[in-house]
Amino acid sequence: MKIAIIGAGFTGLAAAYRLTCAGHTVTVFEKDHKPGGLALGYQEKDWDWSLEYFYHHWFTNDDSILNLAKELKYPVLIKRPKTSSLINNRIYQLDSPLTLLTFPKLSMFERFQMGLVLAFLRYNPYWKMFENITASAFLSKTIGKKAYQILWQPLLVSKFGKYADKIALTWFWSRIKKRTTYLAYPQGGFLHFAEFLAKAILSKGGKIYFQTELNEIKTEGKPLITYTLHSESRAESFDKVIVTLPSFAFIKVAPQLPEDYQQSLINLKGIGAVVLVMRLKKKFFVDDTYWLNVCDTKAPVLAVVEHTNFMDKKHYNNEHIIYLGNYLPNNHRYFSMNEKQILSEFDSFLKTINPDYKKDLIAVRKFSTPFAQPIFFKNYGKMIPPFTTPLENVYLANMQQVYPWDRGTNYAVELGERIAQFVTNHQ
Ligand SMILES: Cc1cc2nc3c(=O)[nH]c(=O)nc-3n(C[C@H](O)[C@H](O)[C@H](O)COP(=O)(O)OP(=O)(O)OC[C@H]3O[C@@H](n4cnc5c(N)ncnc54)[C@H](O)[C@@H]3O)c2cc1C
Repeated sequence: MKIAIIGAGFTGLAAAYRLTCAGHTVTVFEKDHKPGGLALGYQEKDWDWSLEYFYHHWFTNDDSILNLAKELKYPVLIKRPKTSSLINNRIYQLDSPLTLLTFPKLSMFERFQMGLVLAFLRYNPYWKMFENITASAFLSKTIGKKAYQILWQPLLVSKFGKYADKIALTWFWSRIKKRTTYLAYPQGGFLHFAEFLAKAILSKGGKIYFQTELNEIKTEGKPLITYTLHSESRAESFDKVIVTLPSFAFIKVAPQLPEDYQQSLINLKGIGAVVLVMRLKKKFFVDDTYWLNVCDTKAPVLAVVEHTNFMDKKHYNNEHIIYLGNYLPNNHRYFSMNEKQILSEFDSFLKTINPDYKKDLIAVRKFSTPFAQPIFFKNYGKMIPPFTTPLENVYLANMQQVYPWDRGTNYAVELGERIAQFVTNHQ
């Protein structure tokens, strides 16, 4: 079969790899200049490794992507970095049953209660029972008032904003279920891994067109796509087209989609992200924290991630790399502000953690995406669009179909593999 795949994120790459291995004629169209999608990275002049625009790691149970790396003989590093929470200007390590059970902000009884609820979620495989209740309703009733108010409510509010009270417990369950204390990372960075996978696709006879934006998909007997390559508009027909773009972007390029289907995609909400990457001459966290959850809804930052407390700074010319992350609606003013303006808004907050960081600042960059994460409302399972679309032989496989798990490159690979199988079975 002659198959087009739109998007060279991990869903598109995994689908392309499996379909080329199965002997199909595959062409991937990617508007960016490199593969990786939301896990795309860049490399400063003196660095040996690439760095993701947005902080990325894997859990050690992310089997789909770890198995793919193993199959491709791509090296993966596994480490146990420190995850902490900032509560009332103090940093507490909170990343294992032991650190939770010794957390001094809660009484012995409160810690035990919280531990029981988290264990109930972690060891319960029956996630469907959590679909019809929100995380906020469940946690505020069960985990203990104080634990909810100081740890979990601030995270829900800072991450999901106006949707905080609408997030299904399934999302929280998946976060608790999947978390591992050891984390994994592809040697050289996610960009290098994506490029390695892209090379494997090419070696199997697939084609990948970068800087090639899909403009339109139509069906005229067969699916026909129009795209721009080297500022020239071209049209080509395929037996099947797999679209891996977020749903709102699919609607824009497929005007033949019926209104009710478009509406069903519009009903799936998402949230964007704005992240600053700071390069420092010295460490930001003196206690070696890798990931800091900021449990304070008034703080201007949701998470501070010191990547070089996870991966060795020697790969980045001995610079210390710190992400300042926020999930935000895509009309938030940070989307139109530059890095210096945003950093000046974060400055007094950052100084409460490290008063001298500014002296060590080499540079700061801003990265943003209008769609970073789907919003799991109650009963989200019933809202998920199927792979097939109203356009014959045009399939949709995107982040909004990843469920009940929280999206990630692992699930992108799993989704890519599933859509490849689905398309092969529907010849
Ligand atoms: C802040 C943040 C933190 C994250 N942290 C982690 C993490 O720690 N671990 C983890 O595993 N995952 C993490 N993720 C999630 C992970 O990056 C995504 O789940 C995954 O990359 C999604 O892959 P995808 O291929 O489905 O979609 P995408 O990566 O969005 O791929 C879609 C591709 O389509 C391309 N495209 C769009 N429009 C067009 C067009 N018109 N024509 C051609 N191409 C087009 C895009 O450029 C993109 O390459 C994070 C994401 C964010 C935003």
